[in-house]
Amino acid sequence: MPRASSKVLFREAQRLMPGGVNSPVRAFRSVGGKPIFIARAKGSRIRDVEGRTYIDYVSSWGPMIVGHAHPRVVKAVQKAAAKGTSYGAPTVAENRLAAMVKEAFPSMEKVRMVNSGTEAVMSAIRLARAATGRSDIIKFEGCYHGHSDQMLVKAGSGALTLGIPDSPGVPADLARHTLNLPYNNPDAVEKTLRRRRGKIAAVIVEPVAANAGVIPPAPGFLEGLRELTAEYGALLIFDEVITGFRVAYGGAQERFGVRPDLTCLGKIIGGGLPVGAYGGRGDLMEQMAPEGPVYQAGTLSGNPLAMAAGIATLEILGQPGTYRKLEKKGAYMSAGVAENLKRAGVRAVQNRVGSISCLFFTRSLVTDFKSAIKANTRRFADYFARMLRGGIYLAPSQFEAAFISLAHSKADLDRTLAVQRRVLKKI
Ligand SMILES: *Cc1c(COP(=O)(O)O)cnc(C)c1O
Repeated sequence: MPRASSKVLFREAQRLMPGGVNSPVRAFRSVGGKPIFIARAKGSRIRDVEGRTYIDYVSSWGPMIVGHAHPRVVKAVQKAAAKGTSYGAPTVAENRLAAMVKEAFPSMEKVRMVNSGTEAVMSAIRLARAATGRSDIIKFEGCYHGHSDQMLVKAGSGALTLGIPDSPGVPADLARHTLNLPYNNPDAVEKTLRRRRGKIAAVIVEPVAANAGVIPPAPGFLEGLRELTAEYGALLIFDEVITGFRVAYGGAQERFGVRPDLTCLGKIIGGGLPVGAYGGRGDLMEQMAPEGPVYQAGTLSGNPLAMAAGIATLEILGQPGTYRKLEKKGAYMSAGVAENLKRAGVRAVQNRVGSISCLFFTRSLVTDFKSAIKANTRRFADYFARMLRGGIYLAPSQFEAAFISLAHSKADLDRTLAVQRRVLKKI
């Protein structure tokens, strides 16, 4: 029987789902192509329905840090599934994953599991507002914090790619409480905190911005946010949905040595299943129901399969040398990319933190949203299409990170660099 092609499947999908997808960036709109349908994945490779394989740098947008279908993760999920997939009652696995999170992130004295990063952020914001009795939130241009109403204001990646900075359907009354400031600019934060003294409940930040490409925090930026929020009685929320267990086992807060009041996690802690978590200072988390009055709940929160996948993934990541390995792979790759750019005479900017990186087709340094959007997205689209034809699966947007996993071998990286060397000469 002939297999259905991605083209045919996408046509069918478009009749069934808006844009043919369940999450916008998957539709390849910003690079002008048609998405490929994935049949399976293993280690660093994914295979499409037509039998073509690619070296994968999307990594399901971050979670697959130990590689696809890692035998330990698969076995853990299978074992859990055989015991029943959901009970709506406490389990040992929830204790275990919460304890692992707490150990990795000492600032998270108590943790609550949810089903997505969006939910984690939404709940942390509710808690911050309840705890401070204030309504306004400071976020940063180009940072993405999920798709809850209040956070869909200049929100990076999907929204950025599609050019919808504010989504219709978000009440202006609500958006009014979200203030957007430039990333890496503590002075702007201080000014706003001073001008709106007593109004700001929290400052929420991606401690490495990874939804407008990759933008590392400038030296002193995170420390500045810590001092300023403390001074003005606002809470500091780190959205570590990408950076948690990625830039260090203990996330950006370990890597940069800054302790937030609340932290949001997602992606990696689910090991490829739907999980999010938020947590922080004990006196704050105690305000969550049923211990306190701030309501938040979830039918499938702490789901046994998701907990099993998360635990197995963190066990692998917790082995000694993991983050040294990831750093080494990342450094090897960027050295190769720098060499390729030089040889091809292409001027572009590479930003990297550990195993996440972004190649911006622009000449000036990328330190915030404004400098990121100077990148030439047409050139990126051409680059993307040629890399894909060469068997390299990158995120279909200039404003996404490339993720390296533990499963990417030196041979994978060399093969990627060889394809890139050819591609850069043509774009
Ligand atoms: C992906 C992401 C989210 C949203 O997580 P979902 O699981 O997609 O809801 C929130 N914050 C950051 C930094 C993210 O990268």
